[in-house]
Amino acid sequence: MAETYDMIIVGGGAGGLSAAVYAGRAERKALLIEKGSYGGRINETREIRNYPGTIGDTGIGLMEKFKAHALAFPANELKRTTVTGIKQLDNGNFLVQTKRRGDFETRCVLLDLGTKPRVLGIPGEKEFAGHGVAYCATCDAEMFKGKEIYVLGAGDQAIEEADYLTGFASKVTVIVL
Ligand SMILES: Cc1cc2nc3c(=O)[nH]c(=O)nc-3n(C[C@H](O)[C@H](O)[C@H](O)COP(=O)(O)OP(=O)(O)OC[C@H]3O[C@@H](n4cnc5c(N)ncnc54)[C@H](O)[C@@H]3O)c2cc1C
Repeated sequence: MAETYDMIIVGGGAGGLSAAVYAGRAERKALLIEKGSYGGRINETREIRNYPGTIGDTGIGLMEKFKAHALAFPANELKRTTVTGIKQLDNGNFLVQTKRRGDFETRCVLLDLGTKPRVLGIPGEKEFAGHGVAYCATCDAEMFKGKEIYVLGAGDQAIEEADYLTGFASKVTVIVL
């Protein structure tokens, strides 16, 4: 095995790329590993409206800037592959195993794997995601101004989101499963 990294960041979304910027500033030798597209889930966003200093950029556009910032530190490396396992070695370091790029030794591992919405798996949900079906009130509420909105679920989060939506919708109905 070639070299030992100071840290390996698993996940190249907004969180992972930000961690790479901080690793670079701390003069650490960091490797960021992303299994899909650099930028993560925010790449699905057509227009960013809540990131200070950013007006009218797309999710992809903003994440390209995050990536360029991470790569501005010469000790940072980015690789595209899936992390399949992590083992602790006898010397206290960690071995990060990947699907196609081999194994890498590091002093520490930062998992920045993001989150996924809990889908219902009902007809129409997938087809209309981003076109009427949404999973984040603060992200998408303003697109439904003056419309009737149905919130599915009745946990704390659903009620909080429904309350936020009342500032936009003509009517909010909470459907309890
Ligand atoms: C449609 C939509 C619109 C949104 N709009 C906005 C908005 O306007 N403003 C805003 O602030 N937020 C918005 N968000 C939320 C924003 O996308 C998230 O807050 C952000 O993506 C979280 O970043 P993250 O790095 O924590 O996770 P993620 O972006 O999920 O990144 C995690 C990364 O880890 C990678 N990964 C997971 N497992 C492995 C593995 N084993 N090996 C290698 N890589 C792995 C994944 O491929 C992924 O790229 C929106 C989200 C969506 C879905």
